Amino acid sequence: MAAAIDPRALTRELLAFNTINPPGMERACARCLGSTLEAAGFSVVYHEFAEGRTSLIASIGGDDSRPPLCFTGHIDIVPLGAAKWTRDPFAGETDGDKLYGRGSTDMKSGIAAFVAAAVELAPKLASGPGLVLVITAGEELGCEGAKYLADRKLLGRAGAIVVAEPTGNYPYIGHKGLAWFEIETLGVTAHGSMPEVGDNAIVKMAKVIGDLEHFRFPVESHAVMGKPTMNVGTIHGGLNTNSVPDEARITVDTRTVPGIDHDHLRKSLESLLAPRGARVRKIVDTPALYTEPANQWVQEVFEACTPFLEGRPVPKTITFSTDGSDLKRGFGGAVPVVVLGPGEPRLAHQTDEWCSIERIEQSVDLFRTLMLRWCE
Ligand SMILES: [Zn+2]
Repeated sequence: MAAAIDPRALTRELLAFNTINPPGMERACARCLGSTLEAAGFSVVYHEFAEGRTSLIASIGGDDSRPPLCFTGHIDIVPLGAAKWTRDPFAGETDGDKLYGRGSTDMKSGIAAFVAAAVELAPKLASGPGLVLVITAGEELGCEGAKYLADRKLLGRAGAIVVAEPTGNYPYIGHKGLAWFEIETLGVTAHGSMPEVGDNAIVKMAKVIGDLEHFRFPVESHAVMGKPTMNVGTIHGGLNTNSVPDEARITVDTRTVPGIDHDHLRKSLESLLAPRGARVRKIVDTPALYTEPANQWVQEVFEACTPFLEGRPVPKTITFSTDGSDLKRGFGGAVPVVVLGPGEPRLAHQTDEWCSIERIEQSVDLFRTLMLRWCE
């Protein structure tokens, strides 16, 4: 039997791998987790969506009673940012209850918590429906690892998914979808002293932006998530002041709710903007994720979380998006998903990111409970 794992020590071990994305380079970190899980009796398979960009799937047990329970997390982290850190981002420094490091909250602590619980319970999990752990590369730039696993049908079966992203151990039942578009207008260049000879792409783009203000989403609101949103995030156009610009480009961030299909959304934008001659291209696509709170397993998760929160959770969705959307698709679609992990959501991607050590211990308790209930 494998030695018990201290989740705090494992978090620190994972923090030491520089998996900043870009470029990611998750292989060494994935191998480290893989060998820990193999030593505990899991079967481990690695998948690389590009050289050195390694995700892994670790499984144990499995029978015909029900599909395995899935836990998932990503090992890539975001860049450190321009501001100087007061702590070493890779050393796992601690100060009281705080464990510092890039990825401490988002989300190496979450992975450490479910790996610690899984290794501890491995002998029990080896018989019964079992467990599948999906640890992904490349989440921070468009869920590349998860999309690769789903698109190539590498995931097999799962009966429910816990996405251990930072939620302070509050169980969220989903998140909005993410559809980013690039919109381009073209014109004809001419000397800036003779604009009547040209066709100004920036002026066209100004009209496009005006049109977007009047765009109506096909679903106006969702009972738990609220309204879909649209934001024009960037604008580029023109090369020099004394020319008529022949090209302009914007990028648009839409956050969607269930019922809005992203291909359909692109077509709607295209037809709205067709009179301006604008071209619309989808550049990021993560569908909305939602599980009905009445789902029996979701209710079990709510119950398990209650001792760690101020009362029983109410149905809520979280602001950021996750691998959960693509993994749910890869597992066949009809799978309940909760987003639940030890990190502090407000500290994700921040300078001097930290995670509460107490929360990590709570997550191990919570995940242990969920694993045991699944296998009862
Ligand atoms: Zn994350």
